[in-house]
Amino acid sequence: MPEIRRILLKLSGEILTGEKDYGIDVGAVNQLVSEIKQVRDRRVQVAIVIGGGNIFRGHDVADSEIGRVSADQMGMLATVINSLALQEALERSGIPTRVMSAIEINAVCERYIRRRAVHHLEKGLTVIFAGGTGNPFFTTDSAASLRAIEINADLLLKATKVDGVYNDDPAVNSAAVMYERLSYERVIEEKLAVMDETAIVLCRDNRIPIRVFNMYQPGTFSSIIAGGGHGTLICHE
Ligand code: UDP
Repeated sequence: MPEIRRILLKLSGEILTGEKDYGIDVGAVNQLVSEIKQVRDRRVQVAIVIGGGNIFRGHDVADSEIGRVSADQMGMLATVINSLALQEALERSGIPTRVMSAIEINAVCERYIRRRAVHHLEKGLTVIFAGGTGNPFFTTDSAASLRAIEINADLLLKATKVDGVYNDDPAVNSAAVMYERLSYERVIEEKLAVMDETAIVLCRDNRIPIRVFNMYQPGTFSSIIAGGGHGTLICHE
């Protein structure tokens, strides 16, 4: 793997919930900050896309009362809430951070402008991309791939609760085996639960490697950046 200079970290909203059932747990956010700090200390530029599933998921809620487009817009706003929580925690620990939203919400954060985002990263700021892609019917996984391509990231890191991609659900089947390395094609053909297909195809076509890893395992995020760490690498074989 060539030297990693700039990364895109994809966090699901759920990761902010910690032990709670819903919303944001301060302890969980602080744990995330400590993992991110270790990577920044390696002089790596860090961009983050965060989901909103701990607060609102459009497709779960959309029905005859709330149409899908509005429900998805509510989901996108949930990602803004999470981004602000993470920004506060990062800045409190001395990491200068900008939130840039795909949906304009100027009193709250900057709007996403690609060149400005790259400029922030070059100056050493951590950038959180909020609001997903800004469009309904997409996910924040697709937003993560899109932003990784736009900012020319060397690696997209998808944080999960398990160590990587398995041939079966490791929570249910203790004999499930983790893949060390997979091709984009295999992920798509076997419908392996990594990210949605749009996200994988975007990374495949633009040659962005994806690393799936366990964010709950302290130090793993930073070891991956240093060239080691446990997890599954998805790339062209
Ligand atoms: N969403 C959207 N367009 C996007 C990204 C997200 O409409 O480009 C909405 C969608 O309703 C989704 C919600 O925002 O359910 C939260 O995002 P996601 O489900 O990807 O969050 P995660 O599962 O990563 O927490």
